[in-house]
Amino acid sequence: MPGVEIELEDVSKSFGATAALAPITRRLRAGQTTALVGPSGCGKSTLLRMIAGLEHPDSGIIKLGSEKPSTMASRGALAMAFQDPSLLPWRTVRANITLGAELAGTVDPQVDALIDLVGLTGFGLHRPAELSGGMRQRAAIARALVSEPEVLLLDEPFGAVDAITRSRLGKELPPIWRGRGTTAVLVTHSVDEAVQLADRILVLTPRPGRVVADIDVDLPEGGDGRDVRERVFRDLAGQVLDALEKAA
Ligand code: ADP
Ligand code: MG
Repeated sequence: MPGVEIELEDVSKSFGATAALAPITRRLRAGQTTALVGPSGCGKSTLLRMIAGLEHPDSGIIKLGSEKPSTMASRGALAMAFQDPSLLPWRTVRANITLGAELAGTVDPQVDALIDLVGLTGFGLHRPAELSGGMRQRAAIARALVSEPEVLLLDEPFGAVDAITRSRLGKELPPIWRGRGTTAVLVTHSVDEAVQLADRILVLTPRPGRVVADIDVDLPEGGDGRDVRERVFRDLAGQVLDALEKAA
């Protein structure tokens, strides 16, 4: 199932007197992964929750293809993984991962491959309480991917994952959703992670978040050699850091 364009038109949000997100207008292209980078409290999670239909904008319109977020969510075509994964404690890891797909009536035959891929081989029949925080997070990522969503929302999904696993997941997971044409939005604190995983990076100011830089990530593939890729990588990371510093 190919992904859809995410259209944000003049979307803003306040909580009482707290302006969380300034009006934002952007089109997030179908099949791309867009990273949201910005200081803590600038409205990144709020924007993600609005795209997921969990929160209503004060102004503006959000469209996922031709649908409202709530419509897409209710037909199971939208998946989200949070930093604090809410796994059901009484279900096994495998049963947590397949829950959404079960409800939609389609259990992905690749479940076990996905469990292996996120490094949870042998833990499918364990309960969440028997896992570390990082393992629970990886289970939540597998749960989001197993439904083959059209829109995938990741809110600091690698926060509690150790550095080596994080780097491995960063290499191995994105090709899965890219290969399916999924449109993904990733919130991350890590500039390097944004450059590594995203096709495009939106840099936000401190609260209320406003887009100060909109950077296309076009890393050369292996053919150009490691040095070229590394130079382009550092240059892009530098652009993101500059934008963050200027906005601070
Ligand atoms: P980020 O994810 O960028 O760290 P958030 O989107 O979580 O930021 O929060 C943006 C701002 O909105 C913060 O000041 C936060 O305290 C506030 N906020 C977020 N959710 C709520 C809520 N449900 N009620 C009140 N304030 C909230
Ligand atoms: Mg957040």
